Amino acid sequence: FAAYGGPVRADQRPAPYLDRHLSVAARVDDLLGRMSLDDKIGQMTQPERRYVTPEEITRYRVGSVLSSGGSAPNPNTPESWADMYDGFQRGALAGPLRIPIMYGVDAVHGHNNVLGATIFPHNIGLGATRDPALVRRIGAATAEEMAGTGVDWDFAPCVCVARDDRWGRTYESFGEVPELPSMMTALIDGLQGDGLGGPTSVLATAKHFVGDGGTEGGDDRGDAKVQEKELRAVHLPPFRAAVKRGVGAVMVSYSSWNGLRMHQNRYLITDVLKKELGFTGFVVSDYKGIDDIDGKPGFTRQEVAAAVNAGIDMVMVPTEWRRFIDYLRDEVKGGGVPMSRVDDANRRILTKKFELGLFERPMADRSYLKTIGSAAHRRLARRAVAESQVLLKNEDGALPLDDDDKVFVAGRSAHDIGMQSGGWTITWQGRPGPITPGTTILDGIREVAGPGATVTYSKDGNGIDSSYDAAIAVVGETPYAEYHGDRTGGLGLDDADLKTIGRLRGAGVPLTVVLVSGRPLDIAKELPNWDALVAAWLPGTEGEGVADVLYGHADPRGRLPVTWMRSADQEPINKGDGKKALFAFGHGLAYDD
Ligand code: BGC
Repeated sequence: FAAYGGPVRADQRPAPYLDRHLSVAARVDDLLGRMSLDDKIGQMTQPERRYVTPEEITRYRVGSVLSSGGSAPNPNTPESWADMYDGFQRGALAGPLRIPIMYGVDAVHGHNNVLGATIFPHNIGLGATRDPALVRRIGAATAEEMAGTGVDWDFAPCVCVARDDRWGRTYESFGEVPELPSMMTALIDGLQGDGLGGPTSVLATAKHFVGDGGTEGGDDRGDAKVQEKELRAVHLPPFRAAVKRGVGAVMVSYSSWNGLRMHQNRYLITDVLKKELGFTGFVVSDYKGIDDIDGKPGFTRQEVAAAVNAGIDMVMVPTEWRRFIDYLRDEVKGGGVPMSRVDDANRRILTKKFELGLFERPMADRSYLKTIGSAAHRRLARRAVAESQVLLKNEDGALPLDDDDKVFVAGRSAHDIGMQSGGWTITWQGRPGPITPGTTILDGIREVAGPGATVTYSKDGNGIDSSYDAAIAVVGETPYAEYHGDRTGGLGLDDADLKTIGRLRGAGVPLTVVLVSGRPLDIAKELPNWDALVAAWLPGTEGEGVADVLYGHADPRGRLPVTWMRSADQEPINKGDGKKALFAFGHGLAYDD
């Protein structure tokens, strides 16, 4: 009998829940019947890897572990991820019931915490492609790269509908209308494979439920002040689509809806998501999300009860997870949380563990390690990058470049993997620099240009003269993750970028600006001085995809997934309320336009 956990004596029949020939429902029933209250509370607890040991997993029957953004083993190699995963898993399997853990990460554009992984464009760029089949393939490739490291749970896709560009998570959105994230839930099919049971299937998570992209002023973790009708029309549909595709998990949003924290909203989590939409997977809280319920730092017994009673099944309590376990046990014993709620949560979590095949195949399948950053995945990413480019302006045929043009390339984002990958890359916030292997946009231009071409690069634009055929300024945003949604703007171009562009402009050579950013920037005043403008979004590690479009080896096909404001004071402009935009939602030129 192949169940993990050591030999089974001949006179001892394995417990029914270990019998893979039984139905998942029967296995869950059998297992639940054997579990103590402590076993059940453990399943609902998710610590962060830095704050828990394999021994503690055994002892406290912990059900899941996460890596928060950029929290990686040292050294950050695919092999040490697999070792780390297996270590935690061994801890789980040493428990009396041998219940495997699930290990969750934010693989939001490829397996992005792992050095050398293929980094795909962030969601905003994928939204520009309008290509769900491509996105499904990206999901499958991401799942493959995850499988080698053992990681079986992805906190993606973010299906938020970004209604205000000031929101610092706009780039995690597929677009400003519900149809785009709904369509792109195709990523879930790629991640989960057919019914979760495939050799590389990972559990997907639709997040953040609900209204995260609709907060006042674009405040991250703010308040979505909208009528229920608008919440249902704009923010709920992508979750409906995700549930239809059988998404395994849903993560609750830090934000509030009309003043009430989502982490305690029983109506939306239990009545709407679980009952009305028929979601049968499990609901996970966001990182320390239960702390925010009462607006004071840290969490209380009451916050634990409020969150679990609202319908949260697994609680992401990265650091103080032992206190969480104590509080939940007290609440259940004191009647504050009904046992039926704990059983329901366990049923949902265990069902996914059985469906994932974790009881049969708990350890990392290292045969997939070779897919991490593989040539095939990089080709797929390059294609995705090319498809996501949006040509916004092209005067006098500035683009495409000729293969043997003499080209001058400049800008902070031209030769920088970190800049072009954005947040959630190796570290949580991301950062400039050669942070992981890949091809910069400059590398891509050099590779794609013909053998007769001259490509000159200077970061700040100094050294250009009128002898060039074309100047390309690659500029944009410095990486960030979450929060950066202050109402003061922050949507303008960086001073250094403006100076670089000015130098190129001064040479009197046709000027193309390639904007590497997670959202539209306030550029209307400068735009008349530019001959061509390409929105490259945050393309990730495969810079050749941008070059493919600049040289016309791929046609620009991307269409704006968000409205482009004329000035930052028009925000929020993504609500389609008729403000005069610089570029309308859906705008995007082709070379034969
Ligand atoms: C983010 C989530 C993420 C979680 C775990 C939170 O700060 O809001 O999107 O999944 O951290 O890393």
